[in-house]
Amino acid sequence: MAPPPTSAPKPTPPSYTHDYIVIGGGSGGSSAARRASSWYHSKTVLIENGPSGGCCVNVGCVPKRITFNAALIREMLNHGKNYGYDIPDGISMDFKHFKSLRDKAVERNSKAYDRNWEREGIEVVRGTARFTGREKEVEVVMEDGSGRRLFRARHILIATGGYPVMPSDVLAAKHGITSDGFFDIEVLPRTIAVVGAGYIAVEMAGILNALGVVVHMFIRGKTFLRKFDPMVQDTLTKRYEDIGVIIHKDFAGFEKVERLDTPEMEEGGVSAKHESRGTPPSPSKRLRLKAKNGETFDVDEILWAIGRVPEVKDLDLVSIGVKTTKTGHIAVDEFQNTSVNGIYAIGDVTGQYELTPVAIAAGRKLGNRLFGPPELKSDKLEYANIPTVVFSHPPVGTIGLTEPEAEEKYGKEKLKVYHTKFPAMFYDVFSAEDKVKHPTEFKIICAGPEEKVVGLHILGDGVDEMLQGLGVAMKMGATKKDFDSCVAIHPTSAEEIVTMK
Ligand code: NDP
Repeated sequence: MAPPPTSAPKPTPPSYTHDYIVIGGGSGGSSAARRASSWYHSKTVLIENGPSGGCCVNVGCVPKRITFNAALIREMLNHGKNYGYDIPDGISMDFKHFKSLRDKAVERNSKAYDRNWEREGIEVVRGTARFTGREKEVEVVMEDGSGRRLFRARHILIATGGYPVMPSDVLAAKHGITSDGFFDIEVLPRTIAVVGAGYIAVEMAGILNALGVVVHMFIRGKTFLRKFDPMVQDTLTKRYEDIGVIIHKDFAGFEKVERLDTPEMEEGGVSAKHESRGTPPSPSKRLRLKAKNGETFDVDEILWAIGRVPEVKDLDLVSIGVKTTKTGHIAVDEFQNTSVNGIYAIGDVTGQYELTPVAIAAGRKLGNRLFGPPELKSDKLEYANIPTVVFSHPPVGTIGLTEPEAEEKYGKEKLKVYHTKFPAMFYDVFSAEDKVKHPTEFKIICAGPEEKVVGLHILGDGVDEMLQGLGVAMKMGATKKDFDSCVAIHPTSAEEIVTMK
């Protein structure tokens, strides 16, 4: 995309080293820095203390999606038998080789960030930033041991993201791993306990199950994905049970993790190298999990997927007066302003829709607002109707309100809910018993006499690729009539979206 015409770059005031300091080189920080530097010629410094590209590229979306693809291949191989292929049982996979291929892809993606920053004239500083307490000033402890550097700018952006947590109330929880450690696995465990009920737990449990690992999920409720529409919760939880995931519902929690093999460390300790990721998994690793109710479970690995927290501990926010919320996220207004003039925050560190494209969009909008032409001085990200996909088995796509949220907002009597559940044509050749284990299910929630679509929830093979276009329709304010006026594409599952009665 060509940048819009801009006036000549404004000179940096002498007391400022830069126009823009961006702390964090993940998806959000990178997009913010690039917009400011390449579109508006702002003198931008980007400070990063980890691999370029942050979580999404290195321990998030990218390696997850590649592993999801590997799992899909295994599923397809199994399905092939139903289409007459002579596929032997117990197809093996060289996971270590797969990991090396995935690592290379991740590295390529990460290097692309470096190239973009260099090409677009962004100064990259490797180190850990903190506010000094003086206005508009940030100090960086340099990664190469060369000491400290000071930077001053009119605008400072915090885009430091977050990291996955382990429970603080489980003794020796660090014998397990988080999603970061998941990407270190070279030899798949035979059995794994996945604790948690959000995106990460559901995605990783689905992937591991498809790859042949015996998966135990431990959830605190009766369903997982409890912030999603009840249709998604109920159907997907049942579906996971149907495909072999062992779900321990209403689980009260673990008390202790013990290593049954010879640990390289003291009970409850952790080696410095793997501090953030937990113990590196090994084929011989064996754990005993002691639950609060006295039950024990012996597994090869435990994956904690109980949420992520904002990465703010090194920033010394208190020194400059940047306020945080009860959850420790940086409090921002709709324009990404923090409580301190000239300091902004975007992405996971703010806790607003912890999704890569949200951080990217917010970073670009902020760049437009701070450095762009006058007509963009009020630019901000509109947080309504953001589409999101869970890469579960099958995937789930969601935009807008859940049914309970829509009832609360509009009143039940003002809603019309369209719902359909059917086996996709792909499963027509499967046995009747197998076919029902593969539901496709859609729900469209409409409000008011014009039946404006205010919530859309889809579950089934391929919905991850279906959702984007539906997101455009909802952003344009589509009504059910608009959906109905679109001619169906036959034979697809997607056609049900425009034929629901
Ligand atoms: P989430 O906050 O989404 O989910 C964690 C869930 O685990 C909680 O909602 C809770 O569910 C459960 N939980 C919390 N504490 C405990 C506990 N002590 N024991 C058992 N269960 C517990 O966190 P995730 O780590 O899954 O994901 C973080 C964010 O990353 C997501 O919100 C999402 O925005 C983003 N993400 C997006 C992806 C995508 O776009 N595809 C993929 C991965 C992550 P309950 O209350 O039901 O127990």
